[in-house]
Amino acid sequence: MMELRKDPITRSWVICGDEAEASVSSGGFCPFCPESGLPLQVVATSPTVNGSPWSARAVVHPRPLYGIDGEPGRSGNGLYDTMRPVGAHEVLVENARHDRHLWNADDREIEEYLALCGQRIQDLKGDVRFKYISVFKNYGPMSGQEFDHPTSEIVATTFVPRRVLYELRAAREHYRVKERCVFCDILHQEQEQRQRIVEVRGEYMAGCPYAPRVPYETWIAPRNHEAYFERTAQKSGAMRDFAALLRRTLFRIRTIADGFHMVLHTSPNTVHRSETLGFWKTIEDDYHWHLEILPILGNKAKSYTFKEVYYSPVSSETAAAILRERPTE
Ligand SMILES: [Zn+2]
Ligand SMILES: [Zn+2]
Ligand SMILES: [Zn+2]
Repeated sequence: MMELRKDPITRSWVICGDEAEASVSSGGFCPFCPESGLPLQVVATSPTVNGSPWSARAVVHPRPLYGIDGEPGRSGNGLYDTMRPVGAHEVLVENARHDRHLWNADDREIEEYLALCGQRIQDLKGDVRFKYISVFKNYGPMSGQEFDHPTSEIVATTFVPRRVLYELRAAREHYRVKERCVFCDILHQEQEQRQRIVEVRGEYMAGCPYAPRVPYETWIAPRNHEAYFERTAQKSGAMRDFAALLRRTLFRIRTIADGFHMVLHTSPNTVHRSETLGFWKTIEDDYHWHLEILPILGNKAKSYTFKEVYYSPVSSETAAAILRERPTE
């Protein structure tokens, strides 16, 4: 039985418990291929753009870490806080085809996948129990990848994950002092300095952050201010350049790294506004959605995984220069 525990010092939540040994065998069939015929709980499906049965779809995770029913039932035991892992855990099948990844699919297919991400986020935010919706992807042998089929995951939680909370607090503080979005300020400076940009495509920019956590860390963000990914994703045509830039960036990264983690950062569920003492009052102006890609360099993984301070043996400027020269298809 898994439970959520709050670290009493850093105040971040972890999901923790003794998991039963996974004994799921699909007998060699991929459960996500349309022809597998295995029973899946389909949540949403995007229409086809090229004659395949569908272009992307969301299904309930076959072994969910979070359960959809009930209340978190937060309780304390002395210093320690715990709650039930109430939430939603879905697999986002990126493509009907087993061999079409985000770096080699059609841009139109990737657009459908991104629209589906937006739709699922919007829909899950309708549930007031959920404070944050995470979309992420683990790819490659060292990443914790679960399935062979091209998939991402979406998780709705009753808390805001630590990294996002740090960003939200810092963005709000920057806005309080400067009345500007910190991400917009960074994007402007990067466009002036032109040292860490990988590629600009329409409204979007891919670049290596000034202080990377891992070598070749790359972010993609809209160049104009927008706090909510799902709002952009649901505007017709707004994701076309993003789809192409995502595909080209992942293609570049895959020529350097065996795997990667990818995570979308967007605004939390702001229906909790009143309860949080105005915490989200300026969020529309202070937060800015973006996608973070953290490559996993197989042989170097060890050298930075266990350090207390992030260490990157490749500077952001060199990383961006190398990525710029890499093939994109
Ligand atoms: Zn498959
Ligand atoms: Zn901004
Ligand atoms: Zn972020």
